[in-house]
Amino acid sequence: MPKKYYELTPDERLASLNLDEQAVQAWQDNQSATNAQIVENYISDFRVPMGVLKDIIVADRHVTVPMATEEPSVIAAANHGAKLLNQGGGVAVSLPERTALIGQLLFSGVAYDELAAFVARQQAAFFTVAQEAKPSIYRRGGGLLSVTARAVSATSVSVDFTIDTRDAMGANIVNTILEAEQALFADFQAQFVGAILSNYATAQCVTVTGRVPIASIGGRTVAKRLVQLNQFGHQDVYRATTENKGLFNGIGAVTLATGNDWRAVEAAGHAFASQNGRYQSLTTWTIAGDFLEGRLTMPISVGTVGGAISAMPQAQRALAIVAPQTADELRGIILAVGLAQNLAALKAIADGGIQKGHMKMHYRALALQVGARDDEIATLVTQLQAAEQVDAAVATNLLREMRK
Ligand code: NDP
Repeated sequence: MPKKYYELTPDERLASLNLDEQAVQAWQDNQSATNAQIVENYISDFRVPMGVLKDIIVADRHVTVPMATEEPSVIAAANHGAKLLNQGGGVAVSLPERTALIGQLLFSGVAYDELAAFVARQQAAFFTVAQEAKPSIYRRGGGLLSVTARAVSATSVSVDFTIDTRDAMGANIVNTILEAEQALFADFQAQFVGAILSNYATAQCVTVTGRVPIASIGGRTVAKRLVQLNQFGHQDVYRATTENKGLFNGIGAVTLATGNDWRAVEAAGHAFASQNGRYQSLTTWTIAGDFLEGRLTMPISVGTVGGAISAMPQAQRALAIVAPQTADELRGIILAVGLAQNLAALKAIADGGIQKGHMKMHYRALALQVGARDDEIATLVTQLQAAEQVDAAVATNLLREMRK
């Protein structure tokens, strides 16, 4: 019997794709036996550039932060933003006393009062079941914190389990506990719809704040314009979307580099940005005396163990650069990078336009695009910077001239 596709080896799958020899070789050069175990139908690794934010002060500690991103200007901008925030003393972090993930048991066609009364009566049993389902998380100091019924509509109810998953992101821990708790709801089996963690991690909302001397960002006019730009992010969804995208340039790059689930972090961030019924910027910038002050609050579910972190050695190596003692420390660091990234983007727009800062990195990407070799890139970038108009045709011509 022929093998099913998922049973093929990576090389057999590559052979099935009708690629030329060079492409097959290139993919083969990037294969990893470990990663082949992580996803189905693996063919090769897809490499993304990783750089570092060299120094950002977070909660009084100087930290170097790895960032994995395909976008050319992100890491340079993060370093610039961090430098500015460091001049104001760095980023302060404020966390809930216990960060936790929420899991949902969902019921439809049920009276809220009836289910809520049941949940109130079963409290002791919920805690016993959680401990039996995942004793190891209790040994680590985590576990179930609360169980509440929440009306979602006239006939649908979510029973929310708030669970401290310590240094793990916790999706599997929460789902394991939820599935065990489900058995207690035998009387509501007909109304039961499903059990799953929520990525809207409101029990782990973290706030980071920082300030920059106004003199360091180009003076009061730039500072005022920066604040006005940020206000647009609170009033206009078009601006808010772009501002939050810029924020996630930083947050996503650190989340990815540290082996965390960036989709979970982004989904929670965007949901939180809509908490007032209108999608808004996640950051707020104000002027206070001689300082520009910034604040970012959002839920962030990340871990320092488990999931892809335990599976991927590169994630462990990246985490070792940050060396967080706990997942809570990592939460603060990731959001601090987000604040720095946001500051750099706003400053660039407020102070002469985003393209000025972007261009050098963009030119490097353009040089690669038109086929410049590693030893030709610097010269071509210099020539592009001097050119009056730049596009792919101009870059191609300059490269051709250089090679004559
Ligand atoms: P894991 O189950 O892989 O890892 C958690 C385990 O790590 C714990 O159960 C614990 O096992 C061990 N551990 C070791 N040290 C610690 C510590 N200090 N604190 C806590 N746990 C520790 O991962 P998660 O439960 O974190 O799940 C994350 C993964 O789930 C991610 O890959 C994510 O992409 C995925 N996922 C995400 C979903 C979503 O976001 N909607 C849905 C489903 C999965 P022990 O105590 O036994 O040693």
